[in-house]
Amino acid sequence: MKRINHWIGGKLVPSESGRSGPVYNPATGEQTGTVDFASVDEVDAAVAAAKEAFAGWRAASLSRRADVLFRVRALVDEHRKDIAMLLTAEHGKVLSDAIGEVQRGLENIEFACGVPHLLKGGYSEAAATGVDVYSIRQPLGVVAGITPFNFPAMVPMWMFANAIACGNTFVLKPSEKDPSASLYIAELLREAGVPDGVFNVVQGDKVAVDRILEHPDIAAVSFVGSTPIAKYIYERGTRHGKRVQALGGAKNHMVVLPDADLDMAADAAVSAGFGSAGERCMAISVLVAVGGVGDQLVARIAERLPKVKVGPGTEPDSEMGPLITREHRDKVASYLEAAERDGAKVVADGRQGLPEGDGFFLGVSLVDDVQPGTACYDDEIFGPVLSVVRVDTYDQAVRLINDNTWGNGTAIFTRDGGAARQFQWDVEVGMVGINVPIPVPVGYYSFGGWKASLFGDTHMYGPEGISFYTRGKVVTARWPDPSTSTVDLGFPQTR
Ligand code: NAD
Repeated sequence: MKRINHWIGGKLVPSESGRSGPVYNPATGEQTGTVDFASVDEVDAAVAAAKEAFAGWRAASLSRRADVLFRVRALVDEHRKDIAMLLTAEHGKVLSDAIGEVQRGLENIEFACGVPHLLKGGYSEAAATGVDVYSIRQPLGVVAGITPFNFPAMVPMWMFANAIACGNTFVLKPSEKDPSASLYIAELLREAGVPDGVFNVVQGDKVAVDRILEHPDIAAVSFVGSTPIAKYIYERGTRHGKRVQALGGAKNHMVVLPDADLDMAADAAVSAGFGSAGERCMAISVLVAVGGVGDQLVARIAERLPKVKVGPGTEPDSEMGPLITREHRDKVASYLEAAERDGAKVVADGRQGLPEGDGFFLGVSLVDDVQPGTACYDDEIFGPVLSVVRVDTYDQAVRLINDNTWGNGTAIFTRDGGAARQFQWDVEVGMVGINVPIPVPVGYYSFGGWKASLFGDTHMYGPEGISFYTRGKVVTARWPDPSTSTVDLGFPQTR
């Protein structure tokens, strides 16, 4: 059985902690590997390697760092299918979706290739007579990333591309559920010329995470995962003096106004609700049908669902793979029972007609007449369950979204430009789609939700990622000119 180790100082390092966890192929239910769980000493070794590498990497010129990143970009592109196959084997998502994940991650590496431009400061000549003022941005030192199971390649790329481009060194703690991609990426980075110690991986669980949060040599922590853990990471990391950005869970609403193209809305709802088995933080999990559009919308979605092919991600015709673990599959299925008990209508039931075998499959489910205040609406289900809430007016739809705990993504489907613009103004959500159901920002914008979807001030990747991984410094300079030198005890004046 495959054993998945750490990556410290440019090589694989097996754990001596005596602790490990199982890794499964979710499509078969078989255990395929064992992942090491780091001890405190092993996290310390990774941080020490990163600390040692920092001075040299920071001193690498901008063009050298850009050059290395261009090579990382080329290698990830060349090996996108190999990475995707690892994702499918441990996460379960279908291969085409896994390739899409790598592609979106690649955008972040491409953005980071522009680091010479991104780190340009400002310069004010003659801010005072003979005095110039300029701003620079410098790296923080050793920074860490803690990532979730649902994007084992892309989310690390959200973080490490900008972090190392800015001259930091990086320690990644991937999800213990699908850890293999982290090591494959580490090998590619080494091949691209990233010096040993600049990128490290510690596998593990809470022990590793807690050490990262407390380690005095880690300056900043980026986290993506569920809301309770994001809140914990933010509170504990900041208490230990770190800069923290912690992205949490979501419950994304898609509003359908009566004038929308209902076929387009139904296609979008099925794609965004069930892609990656609903295990996306930007998945649509609630459809808000406004003003009598509900019956037609539900009918059009129900018509499409039997055609969604559920099966192993390696099969070319599979459109939706299994869930991540058996426990998670059972938990998601339990929401269907709860919904029935709470008076909602299960229009399509994913517990039926599953592929044979022990894979962690659940089919697509559509639940109509879901009410706020019930588990199906209030919880982040994170599975292939699409809930429909019916409201009478646009204002009720907006109120529903703004009263929700989370504010990650949302979308509106309408032909009315004025209504869409009003929605963009009114809605308390970080990422908004207009006739676009999964509005994940491109790599040169930044990704982040509002409310319980993000703890901290800075969104991830793009320009805000550059800010997060650097500190500003302003230099006020005068070059000696003996002819203007006097003693003056007054406060420095600029005019
Ligand atoms: P999770 O919170 O269980 O785990 C995320 C990371 O935290 C993992 O590396 C895990 O090992 C670690 N962790 C888990 N429990 C911990 C604990 N008690 N103490 C310390 N560390 C702990 O999340 P997940 O199940 O891997 O991922 C799914 C969640 O991530 C969903 O809620 C989803 O919405 C969210 N997510 C959010 C975004 C976003 O951008 N906002 C993106 C992807 C996923």
